[in-house]
Amino acid sequence: MAGEPQDDCLFCKIVAGQVPATVVRETDTTVAFRDINPQAPTHVLVIPKAHYKDAAALAAAAPDLAADVLRETQAVADEEKLESYRIVFNTGSGAGQTVWHAHAHVLGGRGLQWPPG
Ligand code: C5P
Repeated sequence: MAGEPQDDCLFCKIVAGQVPATVVRETDTTVAFRDINPQAPTHVLVIPKAHYKDAAALAAAAPDLAADVLRETQAVADEEKLESYRIVFNTGSGAGQTVWHAHAHVLGGRGLQWPPG
């Protein structure tokens, strides 16, 4: 069922504390943790605790939760004192999505090129 934890989902396991992660923020509905393979000096992932396969599914089924995730990306940027930063939701394998639990990348701490690769 939409939103229910999935046994085979890595990020559901992080939410459950079954897989370690360096958590920087947590709310009732979200967790933010450092990406294990950082692409910038600050690279934090913000995820909803509930399972949705990507940002589109999250926004369609649970818009308030999608707003919580966005609010937390801003809180991470503030905590990390980022003047400029990028929020990325890779959506679909062609865009580089590899984990099928919605997540926002918060990237900052260096100059970021546009367009991205
Ligand atoms: O957008 P995408 O699905 O590729 O992002 C998944 C991210 O999850 C990757 O940046 C990867 O480094 C990160 N990851 C992590 N901790 C894990 C496994 C993956 O931070 N245990």
